[in-house]
Amino acid sequence: MKIFRPITGELGNRLAAGDWRLLAACRGADVELFFDRRRLAEARAFCVRCSVRAACDEAGQGEEGTWGGVFRIWKRRGGAEPKAAAS
Ligand code: SF4
Repeated sequence: MKIFRPITGELGNRLAAGDWRLLAACRGADVELFFDRRRLAEARAFCVRCSVRAACDEAGQGEEGTWGGVFRIWKRRGGAEPKAAAS
């Protein structure tokens, strides 16, 4: 039987406030990795084991780069909708 301790203090407060980034598998990773289409496989290696993919995917709507394991290209000129790259 596992016994879980509640997360308290600053970390607990931030999690309670919805700061899902604290649980991101990519915390501390090279940020550029998530904005380079050629390094998508490397980025996805983080995303496949990430517990906050859904929140990340939602936060990435309308943004460029890899969010929730999906690489998006956002064409700012012309106001085109963000498009998920084929996997
Ligand atoms: S889904 Fe990927 S990009 Fe998003 S927080 Fe997790 S590891 Fe980072």
